[in-house]
This record gives sequence, structure tokens and C-alpha cells, in this order.
Amino acid sequence: MKLECECFALDAKGRGLVRIQDKVLSISNLLPGEKAILEINQKKNFIDAKVIEIISASKHRVEPSCSHFSQCGGCQLLHLDYKAQLDFKRRQLVKLFKKEVQIPAILGMEDPTRYRNKVHSTFSLSKKGKVISGIYEENSHHVVNISTCMIQNKEADIIIEALRKCLNDFKIEPFNEDTQTGFIRHVLIRKGFGTSQVLVVLVVANKVFYGVNNFVKAFLKQCPMITSIVMNINDKKTSMVLGNEEKVLYGKGYIEDSCLGMKFKISSSSFYQVNTVQMEKLYAQALKMASVNKNDRVLDAYCGIGTITLCAAKLAKEVIGVELNRQAVHDAIDNAKMNEIHNVRFICSDASKWMIQSAENHEKFDVVIMDPPRSGSDSRFLNACLKLKPRKIIYISCNPETQVRDLEILKRNYKIQSTQGVDMFPFTTEIENICLLVRKTNNETYEGKRFDRLRRNEKRSKIK
Ligand code: SAH
Repeated sequence: MKLECECFALDAKGRGLVRIQDKVLSISNLLPGEKAILEINQKKNFIDAKVIEIISASKHRVEPSCSHFSQCGGCQLLHLDYKAQLDFKRRQLVKLFKKEVQIPAILGMEDPTRYRNKVHSTFSLSKKGKVISGIYEENSHHVVNISTCMIQNKEADIIIEALRKCLNDFKIEPFNEDTQTGFIRHVLIRKGFGTSQVLVVLVVANKVFYGVNNFVKAFLKQCPMITSIVMNINDKKTSMVLGNEEKVLYGKGYIEDSCLGMKFKISSSSFYQVNTVQMEKLYAQALKMASVNKNDRVLDAYCGIGTITLCAAKLAKEVIGVELNRQAVHDAIDNAKMNEIHNVRFICSDASKWMIQSAENHEKFDVVIMDPPRSGSDSRFLNACLKLKPRKIIYISCNPETQVRDLEILKRNYKIQSTQGVDMFPFTTEIENICLLVRKTNNETYEGKRFDRLRRNEKRSKIK
């Protein structure tokens, strides 16, 4: 059945919303205000609909500048002009934060293309038996063959193409997730935008890499820009990309990047913001909001390789970084040494465990910076943070949904002073948001109010 519909909004995944038979459906490649003819398929439990023809296009619609747009799914907003993408992200934040705080315009990029310094690709065989590479189609083990990607750095395109050729030449089979056979599973490429150093991580299914020396020689001949190659062994039945065992095949086994006026060492499994240009804006904004001063003791929880920690250390008396990933903590310690920053300490621990211990030891922090993974923090961390009573909390998040959830706990004793979104992931629906929380005055806090209530009740019972 065909039907004409009008799209009234975008959902959080960037899909256009329409009303059909009192139901709201989300449809890809449709923008607010657009009228379109849809093909409707009434299935058993749901209605499936897709755009056949757009009758009147939005003034914000642009021609997707990537031929893989319809299959890939990596960039959900490629058909929307960049300014409208930023507006979309701001509106998502307005929805999440309700009316609790003003949401300013998102800090965007001047040139939002080719921004990713880290690229991941996976392999498969074409019907003709040639190696193809790209990303998995949503909810499947089917690889979408991708030759170029407009959000990843250019070198990555060249390296992946050369790698495909070498794999074909050396008859190295891609790993098949369904049959659990084959050898090469993924490739990760990391480029230091400030140093042009490039690390290639070949994720393989077992240790035995036949003809490895000749392979590395041939690969390097085609890609002289590579400064290091690491073999990572992942022999588990898992959707995790990296395994625990690594062997350096060429170079130092990591890259260095220079940005923020410093140099950073980044190992294969350590976290590093994928958009270097926006990372500088993100940290500058976060530290401006934190207004750290020379007397402050600062905690940087979920600190990764210590990028924020070291930036904060230049402003503060002392900064403690806490991070779970051992390799990242090693990198952070090396980074402090390399940049000759001495007023920092790094601790390898689960952040919540460490926070609880610090609260029990009555440690004092003036400012807490927290930047947890997408899943957010947890109530143990947040409650311990309330006990530590820092003057300010800076919560940086790559998933504002979990951020807003976590703020519910912090709001007992803190008020949301301001927020600032930074566009770390142009063309995708991902949003990065910084939130500044300031401690309420003593009688405004949850404990203060409870104390007041108890005192009032006491007085009342005395009067009786
Ligand atoms: N602030 C850093 C890293 C942010 S990403 C930066 O801007 O680069 C989140 C980090 O939290 C990752 O390095 C991850 O390894 C770490 N992490 C995840 N779970 C953790 C936990 N339970 N305790 C401490 N660190 C954790």
C-alpha cells in the first residue's frame, strides 16, 4: 500500500517521524516538514514503511556526500545540512534537560569532514572470493563493503585498500563469525593528527601468522606512512574488537600525538577522543567551566591516558587521575613524565571503588571532573561524590541520556549551573555534553533540608 505522509520531527536516531493510523512510525531518510510517498507493509505485529518518493523536500536537505549512505548506517544525518545537524543536537539536549537549564548552541566544526583519527574496519569475502572490508550491517554479520569514508582520515582509506590487496596477495582469509574460521578479524588505524604517526592494529584469530615478515614488508612498501604495526590476538567468540594479547610487528607499538601544547602517548587499547580538533575545544570549554585555580585539588575520574588530567594540572595545585584500563594508566604516567608535569598522580582502579574509599578516608577535592563511558557512572560513584563535597563537578558525557540519569543523584546537593554541547561526531546522532554542577549552600542540600525538617519536628513535639 502507498500513502502520502508528512514528517513532523526527527527521533533520537535521526529517523523521520510520521503518523499513520494513530501510530507514530520512524522512517529513515525523511526530514521534518517533508511530504513523501511511503510504501507501507503491514506485518504481523508492526508496520514497515519506507520512502518511495519525496514530494516536497526540506530546505535543510542536502545530497548525501557518500555513496554508502543508504547501506552503511554509520552517519545517520548525512542528508541534513550541518547547521541543522547542530540544531537537531541542541534540541535533543533541550528535551533531555527539560527546562532545568539553558542549552546554548552546540560548538561545531569549521570543516566537519575527515575528522576521525581512529578507524575500525572488519573483513569478509565477496561472492567472487576476494577480500572486502567495511562495517557490519546493523544486527548482522554481513559486512558492507566500504571503499572510502568521508568522516575518517584519508590515510585510513589508503591503508585499508592496501591491506585488502596484501590479504588477497598472501591469501589470508577473513575470519567468519558464523563458522569461526579464517584469520584476520579487524583492523584498527590510529593517526596522530599533530604528529602524522600512524598505528595499525591487525586483530587476528590466533597466534600463528604464516609469512608474517614478508606480509609486513609488502604492506609497509605500499604504506610508508605507517609508523607501527601491532598484532592483537582475539581468539574469543565475542563482539569485542580487541583481545588481551599483543605482539609488536613493527615500530614502537603505539603512537604519539601532539595537541593542547603537549605530547601524548596512545597505546592500542587506550581510549583517545576520536576527533582531535573538537577535543581541544571540549577540554578548553570544560576547564573554563571548572575555573580551577592554583589552590585546587582536582580529581579526574575516568581519565584515560591523562589528557584532561594534564591540562587541569597546569591550572591546579594537584590532580589525581583514576582509570580502570591498565595500559591507559601506563600511558598516562608516561605522558606526565614526557610533558614534565609533576603535580599529578594516576591510579589504576574502578572509579567507584576508589571514590568510596576516598570518601571513607575524608579526602578533600575542590573540583571533580568525570568523563565516564557511554553507560555512564553508577550510584556508588555518585553517592561517594556527594560525600566528598567538591565545590564543583564537571560531568563530560558522550551519552546525555545516562548523564541526565546520573544527574538525578547529584542534584540532591548540586545545582546544574550550565551545559555546553560540543560536536565530536558530525553527521552522526551522537552528542557530547559538558555539564557544570555547583554545590548548593548547606541549608539547600538534601542533608540540610532533612536536618531542618528534623529540627522542626523536634520543636513541634516539645511544644506538645
Ligand atoms: N577522559 C578521558 C577518557 C574518557 S573515556 C579522555 O577524554 O580521553 C572513559 C574512560 O573510562 C576510558 O578510558 C575507560 O577505560 C574508563 N573506564 C571505564 N570504566 C571505568 C571504571 N569503572 N572505572 C574507571 N575508569 C573506567
